[in-house]
Amino acid sequence: MPVPAAGSVLAPNYHPLDVVLTTGDGSWVTDVHGTRYLDCLAGYSALNFGHRHPALVAAAKAQLDALTLTSRAFDHDLLEPFARAVTELTGTEMLLPMNTGAEAVETAVKAARKWGYDVKGVAPGQATIVVAEGAFHGRTTTIVSMSTDPETRDGFGPYTPGFRVVPYGDAEAVAAAIDETTVAVLIEPVQGESGVIIPPTGYLPRLRELCDDADVLLVLDEIQSGLGRTGTTLAQDLAAVRADLTALGKALGGGILPVSAVVGRRDVLGVLTPGTHGSTFGGNPLACAVGLAVVDLLRPGDLQARARELGGLLTDRVDALVAEGLLAGARTVGLWAGLDVEPALGLNGRRTCELLAARGVLAKDTHGSTIRLAPALTISEPDLALALDTLTDVLREA
Ligand code: PLP
Repeated sequence: MPVPAAGSVLAPNYHPLDVVLTTGDGSWVTDVHGTRYLDCLAGYSALNFGHRHPALVAAAKAQLDALTLTSRAFDHDLLEPFARAVTELTGTEMLLPMNTGAEAVETAVKAARKWGYDVKGVAPGQATIVVAEGAFHGRTTTIVSMSTDPETRDGFGPYTPGFRVVPYGDAEAVAAAIDETTVAVLIEPVQGESGVIIPPTGYLPRLRELCDDADVLLVLDEIQSGLGRTGTTLAQDLAAVRADLTALGKALGGGILPVSAVVGRRDVLGVLTPGTHGSTFGGNPLACAVGLAVVDLLRPGDLQARARELGGLLTDRVDALVAEGLLAGARTVGLWAGLDVEPALGLNGRRTCELLAARGVLAKDTHGSTIRLAPALTISEPDLALALDTLTDVLREA
């Protein structure tokens, strides 16, 4: 367990790599000693547009000079345009703004439960939600109650009841878990924290079918997978599926401030009437200004296309590392990769990331021997090649 630096007053709930950053520009960051690093994590996909994208910074600066917060006691002139822009981008009917990813997931859970009681007619207090093993949806007490990761969950009980956990990628296990109390199936279309786990083809369409047949909501957590990362606006687009509710976060705030939302069906989000749910900061003018600029970046589809193109390069390169025996496994979708370092190399994920950092590339391990690459969608092809060359050198020299 990491020990806090002597004299530090910072709670020790993270174990960051040994770099202290001070500036960022596009895909590059600089530390306090002036050393430059290529950022291949991009804030766990919050920085899909790179550090300080000029259009996002300009939108934030302009809004700082106009209006920053109203609370939801008063409307402001960007709230409806923001909701309209995001729903149009995602092909959905309604948006409820929040701040962090965990809040968006909590909002989806609350909306699904209330819909279950008010509309589906589930007996009071009996609603269940089917969730997946290995999922990561955030850190609140209700969300850790659905986690199967001991580090995430243990020590934080008593847990919120009402979740049924099934293996990820197994649609028939979901079918078996659904009964008359089930209000929702809550799934990541690609499991990010678990190491970029991609479900079998046909999984999401089958879940859609099961949910339709049983009058159950399909809720997709696209907080990490959404907004361009997979080469499509949403990961669910790859399977041509539309969820009833989709949680968005991370990149929705362009890496500038926390912005999250639930988008989806009007008849479902419509159950959250005044007084039943809210947030002081959710949908604030600054968030909406940046969120609108984020939608402007995604609307043309060029960044999604870029993620697909560069994703092809990424896939070819990591497949070669698997073929060379340097990786035990690799999964890529769009500009997103989960790489399992070959155990025989004697490197775990953490050590690999330390060696990468020593050579100027920042990535982060997850779950032991896996490292995740999720560079900004704006990364240049030579920079992506540089990151992969560096990874190849680190693994070959192990
Ligand atoms: N859902 C998914 C899929 C995530 O990857 C994350 C964060 O990594 C969250 C929810 C939680 O988001 P936040 O840390 O903004 O609460």
